Amino acid sequence: MANLKLNGVELHVGFDDVDSPRGGCTTDLVSEIAIKWSKRGVKFIDYPNLVRLNPAIPWKTRGNGALSLRVLAESYELAKDMCSEAISISEDYVAEFTHLKRSPHVVCFIGHVPGELESMGEKAVRDVVLIDEALSIVEKHLPKVITWSNSSNRRGLIGALAAVGNRLTKDHTYELIAYRSRDYWGTPRLIDPVSVFKMDEETGGLTFLNVDKEANRILIAPHGPDPILFGIRGEEPSALIKALSIVKTGEPIAKWIIFRTNQATDEHLKRVRNLCEAYAYTGVIAVGRVSRDPRIIAGGHVILTIADECGEVDAAAYEPTEDFRGIVKELKPGDVVEVYGVVRPPSSIHGKTINLEKIRVIKLAEVLRQLNPICPKCGRRMTSSGKGKGFKCTYCGYRDPTASKVVVIEKRRVAEGWYQPPPRAFKHLMKPLERFGREKSGWSGVMIEKWHS
Ligand code: ATP
Repeated sequence: MANLKLNGVELHVGFDDVDSPRGGCTTDLVSEIAIKWSKRGVKFIDYPNLVRLNPAIPWKTRGNGALSLRVLAESYELAKDMCSEAISISEDYVAEFTHLKRSPHVVCFIGHVPGELESMGEKAVRDVVLIDEALSIVEKHLPKVITWSNSSNRRGLIGALAAVGNRLTKDHTYELIAYRSRDYWGTPRLIDPVSVFKMDEETGGLTFLNVDKEANRILIAPHGPDPILFGIRGEEPSALIKALSIVKTGEPIAKWIIFRTNQATDEHLKRVRNLCEAYAYTGVIAVGRVSRDPRIIAGGHVILTIADECGEVDAAAYEPTEDFRGIVKELKPGDVVEVYGVVRPPSSIHGKTINLEKIRVIKLAEVLRQLNPICPKCGRRMTSSGKGKGFKCTYCGYRDPTASKVVVIEKRRVAEGWYQPPPRAFKHLMKPLERFGREKSGWSGVMIEKWHS
């Protein structure tokens, strides 16, 4: 991407915080602008990007998504005009939908995205970015940066700027989002579940998280009043187009568009050298030794404590992860595990906690148990005859005053390997095990011809 020769002036437009509980959605606004521009012949240098930012951020209300459009304008002046147009469309959209608590922001960057902005975009997925960090990047690159907001709260600037900065240069996936026409907003979504299962079968491997077979549920449709009818996630745009042709709906699809995203990539997780580096509000991959028996707390959550040479930290498998908790509960002190998840800060009732998204059992410890000996005459387990008096068999009457307890290795109900929650408990950035080995190391920069309706 970065080394393609482009004729024209790059314009990157980032958007954040435009959604609202009253029906609007940032992807809806961005798709409106993208389709309008594309139909007008504007040259896109990337699919619209949907960047999921740090899921541990306390200010997020849902999926912490921010978006960007990347196009080529014929001149600097035309890039500025297009930026004004994007802002004006956003202003109208926000006037209709935004919620008072939001801080809608649009950021235009004219020219090639500089390295420090790329780094900020990547940091915003894994860590906390301060408003001052965002403001100083804006100031440094004026007048190439144009920002808009109708709110005095500057927080949305972080997301909008990060969406410009994060170029999805490494692993990435795609999501095709189909939208509802306005008459249907707020009504139950009419999607034929059989067609979704069929689509999942027929696009197997190239799309993911469409259905939850165990719960016999489809996962492509959201539940709120937002304008999205469904979203299909996958490895390649062409697989998504095929998937779209298989899904049947009982309501019209008003428009559809393909986004390039960091969803299902684990981009939010960073491997740490030890547990002391598992900082609150960051995502981590950490190795530790189970240091206590897992415990179940109120609400049905399972808490696992792990330790290394540097310290001890709790990791939680929450109730919605269902059977995944059963695996975590089976772990024993001495087991070596690799945990994946975001770090929740300590509170008055719990310590710093890694919210488990995945776990790899690297090495199971040998768990020894002392058992009463087996009766050599009838093969049943004997009972104690009293302290220092050996054992007796209550079935055949055999006695052995010299017998003592035997040590056995406990048969474990968990095996070494990878474990993840069921598909219905997945969050946007979590990489399903099914994607392992499918990671991409870059993007070709080539778009399919028909990437929107
Ligand atoms: P959506 O519904 O679009 O998926 P959301 O409602 O969960 O997203 P936002 O409305 O985007 O979340 O709110 C998150 C806020 O946190 C935004 O204002 C964004 O700028 C800010 N933010 C996001 N990531 C970071 C970060 N890494 N550091 C600091 N602030 C962040």
